[in-house]
Amino acid sequence: KKYVYVWNKNRVEGNSKMKDILGGKGANLAEMASLGLPVPPGFTISTEVCKYYWDNGRKFPEDLKSVVEEAMTELENVTGKKFGDNKNPLLVSVRSGAAVSMPGMMDTILNLGLNDESVEGLAKLTNNERFAWDSYRRFIQMFGDVALGIAHEKFEEALNEVKREKGVKQDLELDANDLKKVVELYKKLYKEEGKEFPQDPMKQLWIAIEAVFGSWNNPRAIKYRQINEMDKQGLLGTAVNVVAMVFGNMGEDSGTGVAFTRDPNTGEKKYYGEFLTNAQGEDVVAGIRTPKSLDELKSINPKTYNQLLEVMDKLEKHFRDMQDIEFTVEKGQLYMLQTRSGKRTAAAAVKIAVDMVKEGLISKQEAVMRVKPADIEKLLHPIFDSEELKNAQYIGKGLPASPGAATGKIVFSADDAEKLAKDGEKVILARPETSPEDVGGMNVAEGILTSRGGMTSHAAVVARGMGKTAVVGAEDIVIDLKNKVIKSNGVELKEGDWISIDGNEGKVYAGKIKTVRPEGLAGDISVLLEYADEVSVLGVRANADIPRDAKVAREFGAQGIGLCRTEHMFFGPERINKMRTMIVSKTEEQRKAALEQLLPFQRSDFKGLFEEMEGFSVTIRLLDPPLHEFVPESDEQIKEVAKMIGISEEELRSTVKDLEEFNPMMGHRGVRLAITYPEIAEMQTKAIILAAIDMIKEGKKVQPEIMIPLVGDVKELTILKESIKQIADELIKENNVDLEYKIGTMIEVPRACVVADQIGAEADFFSFGTNDLTQLGLGFSRDDYGKFIGDYIEKGIYEKDPFQQIDREGVGKLIKLALDGGRSTNPKLKVGICGEHGGDPDSIEFAHLVGLDYVSCSPYRVPVARLAAAQAAV
Ligand code: PEP
Ligand code: MG
Repeated sequence: KKYVYVWNKNRVEGNSKMKDILGGKGANLAEMASLGLPVPPGFTISTEVCKYYWDNGRKFPEDLKSVVEEAMTELENVTGKKFGDNKNPLLVSVRSGAAVSMPGMMDTILNLGLNDESVEGLAKLTNNERFAWDSYRRFIQMFGDVALGIAHEKFEEALNEVKREKGVKQDLELDANDLKKVVELYKKLYKEEGKEFPQDPMKQLWIAIEAVFGSWNNPRAIKYRQINEMDKQGLLGTAVNVVAMVFGNMGEDSGTGVAFTRDPNTGEKKYYGEFLTNAQGEDVVAGIRTPKSLDELKSINPKTYNQLLEVMDKLEKHFRDMQDIEFTVEKGQLYMLQTRSGKRTAAAAVKIAVDMVKEGLISKQEAVMRVKPADIEKLLHPIFDSEELKNAQYIGKGLPASPGAATGKIVFSADDAEKLAKDGEKVILARPETSPEDVGGMNVAEGILTSRGGMTSHAAVVARGMGKTAVVGAEDIVIDLKNKVIKSNGVELKEGDWISIDGNEGKVYAGKIKTVRPEGLAGDISVLLEYADEVSVLGVRANADIPRDAKVAREFGAQGIGLCRTEHMFFGPERINKMRTMIVSKTEEQRKAALEQLLPFQRSDFKGLFEEMEGFSVTIRLLDPPLHEFVPESDEQIKEVAKMIGISEEELRSTVKDLEEFNPMMGHRGVRLAITYPEIAEMQTKAIILAAIDMIKEGKKVQPEIMIPLVGDVKELTILKESIKQIADELIKENNVDLEYKIGTMIEVPRACVVADQIGAEADFFSFGTNDLTQLGLGFSRDDYGKFIGDYIEKGIYEKDPFQQIDREGVGKLIKLALDGGRSTNPKLKVGICGEHGGDPDSIEFAHLVGLDYVSCSPYRVPVARLAAAQAAV
């Protein structure tokens, strides 16, 4: 087995593709050496050794010693220096570097090889005694701290003692003789700690190598891997890079810096970086001195500056990505110490990806992979000003139901929200939960905060549809409607106080925090998303209930509507009570009368949807109202509805009582309603077909799809299908038009997945209602799971909120089962997802992998979904 990979001017053993075993730093150093770039020579001990070390009770493979010794000899030969020499000593840095960057988490030791002899050599060589002794004392300190665990402060104390004696404040005021004293004190400190400072450089090297491998499992590195979910990436460990030292602190013609090949904030194609003359890398990192711009290097050393720019161009072309580099100038000579793909802001990620396609540097597929879906999300929704956020008072956390950041005055009712908004106030609507009644207030609020409910609760679904920021199910936050206060973590906020909510993270803050608004789907984002559409296989549709939302969806690039929840069309104040009347009607006559009133609204709304989505499919779902969301509740509602039906309030109250269900989500809803009351489906069919006929008569294209919710048995579908067909065909004949329509079903009941072969034979399409399928598949109530899901995730039972990210093992299997069943009897079956998962990148990848035709999500998620669909296809 090969443990050590060498690079120098004579030979290079590694390359940039070997990150797994060389780590990112080692692999790229080797690659740069291959390219003939100025890299100090060195070698990498592979990550496999790290794994061996930890797997074998902290022991190294037997032959490692001789291989490392050989590599050191080679390093001496190529540099012409000698380890521990008192004339021309070789010094090395010993650096960590895993396959995935873990900035600052693991150990690094510089200036290794210094001892009582070689410090003299360094002094002679550099003609700078002070520099040599300063390097030595730094090395003893770093080695003691990092490799032997002697507290950093103890060294600082010793250093301060010498400064005090001399009566100076700054390290720089100490001369070589003072530093020699510091070294003596440091050595004494080692003794006091029961440790020994090894004079033998080879001994130093082994201790340092072991320390770096050991730091792979220090607590902060473990934590970092946990937080960044790196444990599943199969990392072997860290590599150790032993590299000949070069010095940026050898005078005014030396220095050190970091640079980016493009601006990491804006993505602009310009060199960007910082430089410090007469300094070592640590000084930049530690922020002891403020670095200057790269122009500083240009002014003191234009030749080296130009060489640096050339190297940067070469690196970017070679790696075909924006590079983040570290370099050192030693007496005018440039050395590259590191290169890697640079971290960048969301805006820069998009701009760089698009520019690089235009420059012919990368393909559209690659461009699509360079931007994270979360970046697109960030660019579409407001975020908090980062400075103000630092000082904000955090008061609690809920589920991140709808992205963005919002700040406003607290109101506790939808009516108050509307009143204050009319006066131009910014408000946050705080409710234990929301209902259709609140939609007007939600619409004018900056954001919505609820203390109950999950990712598919009314508040969450409606907020996402509106593109409004929402945090829901914040269980620790008491929203007391009666006293109009919010209490959380000892903080009490009254009506009219400012509050701020972060819908990306689910966090809630007291007070006002400035928000920053991005520019929307302009310029580079829309170009990137066009690339995405070219790459992806999966179509992206939107869940939209009203023409205004459909318009937004189309602007965001939706290819049709995958779900129109018709019950949501009745949220408006002049409509909701008609809907309620229909729900509480006792006789067919009453119901038909109410339906007659609803029909014109529906017909014109459907027409609006068809117009906005002309040329695309529009899937309209028959009424699916969980009754508890729609029965009249307040006295006012009862009064009005009773008047509309022409019965007494008392009678209505008793009807409402009769309608009460223990478990409304599994009650009289979905197709069940149409089975009991066929006139509902009849009216809706009429409205859909008449609206479509209107389109055709105007010479426009239309592709209506009628969808039946919550089907569990094929007979539910066949009964409805027959009545829909009869009404539709009759209308089409009567109007003498050529209209094609489809009839399909939602798959959201586990039983439907099991008998999908039967259902598929009768359906034109399936649309997975993954909200209900998750609810019924896991047996987790959509409205109540917020109470316990935190514990489930913490204990690792589910990795992510299953209402947010599809549970592939369970619900995913049900989907596959249904898909196979449905396609076995109907190969032409079109299949999509229209639950909230349709906007989740991981679930979109799943949809692609199992071969669905499309996903459908809320309008504001369409851009993210387009990118995710493309990424799944690459
Ligand atoms: C679903 O259940 O996934 C779905 C889309 O329907 P709803 O959320 O309206 O129940
Ligand atoms: Mg459903």
